[in-house]
Amino acid sequence: MELAGRLAEDVLYANAAAVDTGRRDLGRNLDVLARHGFYGSMLPPEAGGLGVDAGTAPQLAEVLAAGCLSTTLTLGQHLGISGTVAAKGSPELRRRWLRGLADGRIRSGAAFTGAMPGPPRLTVRETSAGYRLEGTAPWVSGWGMVHVLGTAARDAEDNIVWFLVDAEESATLRVQPHRMLAADATNTVTVEFTGHPVPADRLVTVSTRAEHAEGEPFLHRLNGALALGVARRCVRLLDDDPAWAAELDSCRADLDAMKDLEVARARAAEFAVRAATACVVHGGSSAVLADSAPQRLLREAGLLLVFASRPGIREELMHRFEH
Ligand SMILES: Cc1cc2nc3c(=O)[nH]c(=O)nc-3n(C[C@H](O)[C@H](O)[C@H](O)COP(=O)(O)OP(=O)(O)OC[C@H]3O[C@@H](n4cnc5c(N)ncnc54)[C@H](O)[C@@H]3O)c2cc1C
Repeated sequence: MELAGRLAEDVLYANAAAVDTGRRDLGRNLDVLARHGFYGSMLPPEAGGLGVDAGTAPQLAEVLAAGCLSTTLTLGQHLGISGTVAAKGSPELRRRWLRGLADGRIRSGAAFTGAMPGPPRLTVRETSAGYRLEGTAPWVSGWGMVHVLGTAARDAEDNIVWFLVDAEESATLRVQPHRMLAADATNTVTVEFTGHPVPADRLVTVSTRAEHAEGEPFLHRLNGALALGVARRCVRLLDDDPAWAAELDSCRADLDAMKDLEVARARAAEFAVRAATACVVHGGSSAVLADSAPQRLLREAGLLLVFASRPGIREELMHRFEH
């Protein structure tokens, strides 16, 4: 954690404005994190990973996000997918991919579309040579910086089928970039699959909706850490004011309790917006300059109001903003 803190300050935060304004390639931050083993953060040591446990992972995400949200958000997609390969992949799949995923030679993005409830937006059908994907993944971060996409598609029985798909444009895989309020450096795109072929050996696992839901609490805790990271930086810029610091600790304790997680995530997201707003006010006119941290943090906190949201989070946030 000490190394993560040092890199978050000396590399990520030191370059956050340059990354945000497009003067520094986000890939350079990712290279540094890969060199120090962070692509394998959540993989076991026998797979070449750092073996960070579930209790420590949110702390790591918070520390890194306090350095640079774009970097942490992009890395986060890889960590989720590599964890799925380690936990659910066949011995052959693990032998083939885990080392590269752990040391960052192979970098993964994520397209969770098939895991979303409601009518399937991305479907899979089996063919004699493997599989074909059809549909849209509306949000995929890290395009151009990843080699594969951990992709969830729905089969005819409504199962969630996970693949490692090559992250390469082709006649059957088209991308459309998004321009966003913040974190544009993540190169977030929409991916359109039109009968895209996937070889059989790229199947990672098949899960039911209930099995997928088991992972939601941990995902909430990790995604909540992004808002805490932005807020943590704001508290620092507010001269570590004790009242702001205490509220940050309280938001973290709510998330750590792992109960009412949607409410806890909404609270953390709203706190990040408030802390970032205070940062702008505290910083005065120069806080709105394109290279200044407060305005960037305010935009990032705005983005986190909807990133990886769920109906309960949206409802709680609407309630908080209405009253
Ligand atoms: C900047 C940015 C980057 C993003 N990057 C990625 C990325 O790299 N990969 C990726 O897959 N998504 C990514 N997302 C998508 C993000 O997770 C969704 O924005 C979020 O899930 C909710 O989207 P929404 O509010 O538009 O709801 P909708 O997209 O309309 O979702 C409909 C419903 O599905 C639920 N839902 C959505 N995702 C899931 C899920 N995984 N499991 C269970 N329920 C779900 C929502 O709660 C909602 O109720 C990104 C979003 C943003 C804003």
